Amino acid sequence: MAYKTVNPYTGEQLKTFPDATDEQVQQAIGHAHQTFLNWKETPFSTRAAVLNKAAKLLRDNAFQYASILTLEMGKLIGEAEAEVELSAQILEYFAKNGESLLQPDVLPVSAADGKAYIVHEPLGVLLAVEPWNFPYYQIARILAPQLTAGNTLLLKHASNVPQSAKAFEQLMRDAGLPEGAFINLFVKHTQIELILNDPRVHGVALTGSEGAGAIVAGLAGKALKKSTLELGGADAFVVLHDADVPKAAKWGVFGRHWNGGQVCVSSKRMIVVDSVYDEYLRLYTEGVAQLKAGDPAERSTTLAPLSSQSAADELKEKIHQAVAHGAIATEVGPKVPAQGAFVQPTILTNVTPDNPAYHLEFFGPVSMIFRAKDEADAIRIANDSPFGLGGSVFTQNVQHGEEVAKKISTGMVFVNQPTRVKADMPFGGVRNSGYGRELVHLGIKEFVNHKLINVV
Ligand code: NAP
Repeated sequence: MAYKTVNPYTGEQLKTFPDATDEQVQQAIGHAHQTFLNWKETPFSTRAAVLNKAAKLLRDNAFQYASILTLEMGKLIGEAEAEVELSAQILEYFAKNGESLLQPDVLPVSAADGKAYIVHEPLGVLLAVEPWNFPYYQIARILAPQLTAGNTLLLKHASNVPQSAKAFEQLMRDAGLPEGAFINLFVKHTQIELILNDPRVHGVALTGSEGAGAIVAGLAGKALKKSTLELGGADAFVVLHDADVPKAAKWGVFGRHWNGGQVCVSSKRMIVVDSVYDEYLRLYTEGVAQLKAGDPAERSTTLAPLSSQSAADELKEKIHQAVAHGAIATEVGPKVPAQGAFVQPTILTNVTPDNPAYHLEFFGPVSMIFRAKDEADAIRIANDSPFGLGGSVFTQNVQHGEEVAKKISTGMVFVNQPTRVKADMPFGGVRNSGYGRELVHLGIKEFVNHKLINVV
């Protein structure tokens, strides 16, 4: 039984869930397909009412929903409540804007070609494979646009957040979503192929690691199904010579440590121009030292444990390897508690391009800080990464910041703040960070048939 709740703060195993059988998987596909045949004919107003109701239920019971996240993956309770709110906002965004985002596109053809337009029709059953770091937000990001577009969904959530997956499934049922439009399945990795080979399934959206993305997208490709991939990141956090350094350092501490540092768009690589490097490093180190590790259910805690002991052990090993290849590791702040999946906040300097760590994603409170000769050097280092997800530029010359943002090769760049996640902005990256976009008009059109109709 791979699916289980283990509290990462206490180490206690609280509940296990049996894996789905092949028969259950087949039944779920059939159910989702039958539901699709009706759901695609459902008016937008009905779809929107379900999403609005789900958003209201989330808000009305925010603490209860948030507590499940804190229990299963150790998220700070305040951050868990913020995730519940963000998920509600995403549901509402598509309830409000979905219909207009899917209006037909009229093509400017010549009079001889008559009338030509593109309609955006749903494809059918889709599979969502999601990670544990934002158990509700990751679901909302795919569910809200795809249900609005008229598709139905099967969910394979991460094996350490089964109660979060079930809570969201129940939420949608309580909101009045027809049975079968969204089904959580505790599938084994080996059953992904079975799902993607089924002709009633039309695509897969995966958020997770490069390894999982490559395998699942490979299976989708073999079955000639579309995939979108939201994978890892090592966001550059560029601090230019004219930055407000105290402000940058404060944002840096937040950008690197929220969600225990386990965010694909955490500010993982801080690239600071030589003239302000020493000041930034001093202020940043002071800020990190003030973080308070402890029980994620306590509101005074500001540094969460990692999602599991194995994640913590893996991160410590990565630090060890970085040091073995020449990096300098500085542990910061008071000793983290012995109980819980904690990793001591660590700053890595002297990470040279020949160190494997230079190209790695550290999923936890580990900051790589690079000294750049000047702005051009900072941009070069920022782009010297296999990843291309988010990024930031800090400068007091905002117009110039926009110019620098255009030179950073990622899917999202923010001026004077870390990469952030919002219901009304797109999310996605390039290179090893994946392909496709989630949210807004881009996300809702990832799994539709852009059908041309021409009348002469
Ligand atoms: P992961 O191991 O890839 O897990 C993500 C999901 O993929 C889980 O549901 C997992 O199921 C499943 N999975 C893993 N290997 C699979 C396989 N061979 N076949 C089928 N399914 C498979 O990712 P993680 O390490 O838990 O999560 C952190 C990673 O996700 C980081 O790299 C992070 O940057 C990335 N991420 C990206 C975004 C984004 O939007 N770009 C957002 C959040 C996280 P099991 O749990 O059962 O293994």
